Amino acid sequence: MEILNLSGKTAIITGAARGIGKRIAEKMASQGVNIVINDIPPAKETAEATCKELESMGVRAIASLGDVRSFEDAQKVVSDAVDAFGGVDILVNNAGITRDGLLMRMSEQDWDDVLAINLKGAFHMIKAVSRPMFKKRSGAIVNVASVVGIMGNPGQANYTASKAGLIGLTKTVAKEFSARNITCNAVAPGFIRSAMTDVLAEDVKENYLKAIPLGRFGEPEDVASVVVFLASDMAKYVTGQVVQIDGGLLM
Ligand code: NAP
Repeated sequence: MEILNLSGKTAIITGAARGIGKRIAEKMASQGVNIVINDIPPAKETAEATCKELESMGVRAIASLGDVRSFEDAQKVVSDAVDAFGGVDILVNNAGITRDGLLMRMSEQDWDDVLAINLKGAFHMIKAVSRPMFKKRSGAIVNVASVVGIMGNPGQANYTASKAGLIGLTKTVAKEFSARNITCNAVAPGFIRSAMTDVLAEDVKENYLKAIPLGRFGEPEDVASVVVFLASDMAKYVTGQVVQIDGGLLM
């Protein structure tokens, strides 16, 4: 679609071997975007299979394995993208984990692990991508936060803090990078069907469903559509925003 103006651009998507990240990669590829799939090394086969699928859609795709907790790995992902495609236009910070438990019983390790991937990982990727994006004087960064980062959620002190932190990071990056024509926005999905939510107890799922005005759980596709919009020229005057994709769960 001409108005999206995404064809021939390059996107890095972290944690994209499966789930929401994979769907974002597919949706970007459907608009002609070349893709760098990042995920952790154990996901090598899945990441490479995803790349094959994307290439059958007529774009180029590479897997760049690495752990977003490491700044060196983040730099390698960005240099792989620059080597393969000559630059980076879009960064989607999607990699994320949960380690749920009530705060009184939450271990320091579970706190640190979630913050290290969900928040510090995004900092690493943004820092690594800033140089090629600044050089190009254009770019779009989309951070995958969560609606619970806005509203809080019992049993998720670590996760909600990481996602609230990601929202603060998004707004600061939007302000710091705006002079270089780089936008930075966040999406805040609600309950999206994926491996992360499949493991929740049935009664928890039923309670969520009752609270969602649109009467259904979200699909990875619902998130991917908004991410593609925010990365496109249709959203070139949108920055520092948090777009909720939650079927009306929080308003
Ligand atoms: P998912 O299926 O578990 O996908 C997360 C991906 O991140 C996995 O491929 C995972 O790899 C990868 N990953 C984990 N640690 C990583 C690291 N250190 N470096 C690079 N990649 C890493 O979860 P999802 O539901 O698609 O979630 C995607 C994003 O959406 C997350 O940020 C999540 O917080 C957010 N979100 C999800 C929901 C929901 O309802 N599902 C709602 C709001 C927000 P492995 O599979 O190999 O561990």
